[in-house]
Amino acid sequence: MPGTSLDQHRDRYAQRTEGMRASAIRALFAVANRPEVVSLAGGMPYLQSLPLDGLAEEFGQLVAKDGLVALQYGSGQGIPELREQICQVMALEGIKAHPDDVVVTVGSQMALDLTTRIFCDPGDVILAEAPSYVGALGTFSAYQAQVVHVAMDDDGLIPEALVAAIEQCRAAGRRVKLLYTIPNFQNPAGVTLSEARRPVIAEICRSAGVTVLEDNPYGLLGFDSTMRRAIRADDPDNVIYLGSFSKTFAPGLRVGWALAPHAVREKLVLANESTTLNPPVFNQMAISRYLATFDWQSQIKAYRQTYLERRDAMLGALAAHMPEGTTWTVPDGGFYVWVTLPEGFDSAAMLPRAVSARVAYVPGTAFYADQLGSRQLRLSYCFPTPERIVEGVRRLAGVLDGELEV
Ligand code: PMP
Repeated sequence: MPGTSLDQHRDRYAQRTEGMRASAIRALFAVANRPEVVSLAGGMPYLQSLPLDGLAEEFGQLVAKDGLVALQYGSGQGIPELREQICQVMALEGIKAHPDDVVVTVGSQMALDLTTRIFCDPGDVILAEAPSYVGALGTFSAYQAQVVHVAMDDDGLIPEALVAAIEQCRAAGRRVKLLYTIPNFQNPAGVTLSEARRPVIAEICRSAGVTVLEDNPYGLLGFDSTMRRAIRADDPDNVIYLGSFSKTFAPGLRVGWALAPHAVREKLVLANESTTLNPPVFNQMAISRYLATFDWQSQIKAYRQTYLERRDAMLGALAAHMPEGTTWTVPDGGFYVWVTLPEGFDSAAMLPRAVSARVAYVPGTAFYADQLGSRQLRLSYCFPTPERIVEGVRRLAGVLDGELEV
C-alpha cells in the first residue's frame, strides 16, 4: 500500500539509527559515474598512475611466499612492520611516534568511528570546522553526538571562534569532548591551517580539556615542497592523529590508522577488536611491501604534479566561466575547491538540472550539521582529466546562467 512502511522491524530499531543518514556523496555515485557525466563530485584518487603490473607481481608473491600469514587472522592493533613504516611516514610531518601507539584501522573512516565510540555519549558536543567532512559528520550523528561548527577563514580554523564556541557550549551546560579538524587542504573547503595557528589551537584545546582529533589524509599531497608540521607533533598527549593510505596509495585496500596517547590507544584497540577482530592482514602486508619495495615518495610526487595540473585547469575554468559574484577557495594541495555562488542560488535544488546538463558536484549542505551551505558546493579535481574538468566547469556555468534566466 503506498505510503505504508513495509518494514516489520521498524519499532525495534535502536534510537541511534535515527541519526544514521545516507551519504549525499554515495547517493550521487550512481549518476556521477555515468560516462557522459563529468563528475566533480567524488574524492576518488587518480589510480591510473599506479604501477599496476609491478603491484600484481608483488601481491602474487605475497600469497605464494607468505600466504599462511597473509590469509590468517592477525593482531587487533595491526601488523608490527606496517606500524613501524607508518611511523616513518608520519615523521615527514614532524611526528615522533612509537609503533606501539599506532592502531591500524579499516580506512581512517573506521578510526573516526572508533574514536567517536570511545569518547562520545549521546548529546556530547564535537566541535568541527564550518564546513566539515561529510563522512565524519555522518559518523558523529550515528553516535548521537552534536556537532557545533567553528568558523574558518583562509588560514583555517579561527582561534577566537574556537574559544567562543567552547565558552558558549559550557555556558549552556553542554559537554565538549573533541575538536575534529582537518588541518591540511581541508575537505571540503580546500584551506590549510596556518603554521602560526597550530600551537594556538592545540593550547586552547589542552587548557579547555578538549581532545583534538587531527584528521590528515591529504597532508602529503601539498603542491609545494613545504612540510606542514602536524598539530600532533607538538602536543602528543592531547592529540589523536588519523592517517590513511587512501589518497596516497589505494583506497580500495581500506587501510588507515590512528596514533593516540597511550591510554586512548588501548581503548581504540579494544574497540577495533570488538568491531573487526583485526584489520585485514593481507591488505596491511600488501601496503607494507609496497612501502618497502616501491619508490612511494616518487609516486606521491607524481600525484602532486597530476593534481596541481588539474587544480590549475579548474581554477582557470572557474575564472573564465563562472557568473559575476561567484567566489572560490584556492587550495595548496589535496582534492577540493569550495565554491560560493551569488545570493539567490540554491546548490542542492540546482543539482538535478546540473546532472541533466551532465555535470555533478556535491551541494554545500552535505558538509554542515545544521543545514547551512545552500549557496555553496564542493568541486573535486582529483579524478577527471584537465580537459574534462574544463568541460565540467563550462557545463556548470551553463546551468548557473540558466538559473539566472528563470
Ligand atoms: N577524512 C577525510 C577528511 C576524508 O576526506 C576521507 C575520505 N574522503 C576520510 C577521512 C576517510 O578516508 P579512508 O577511510 O578512505 O581512509
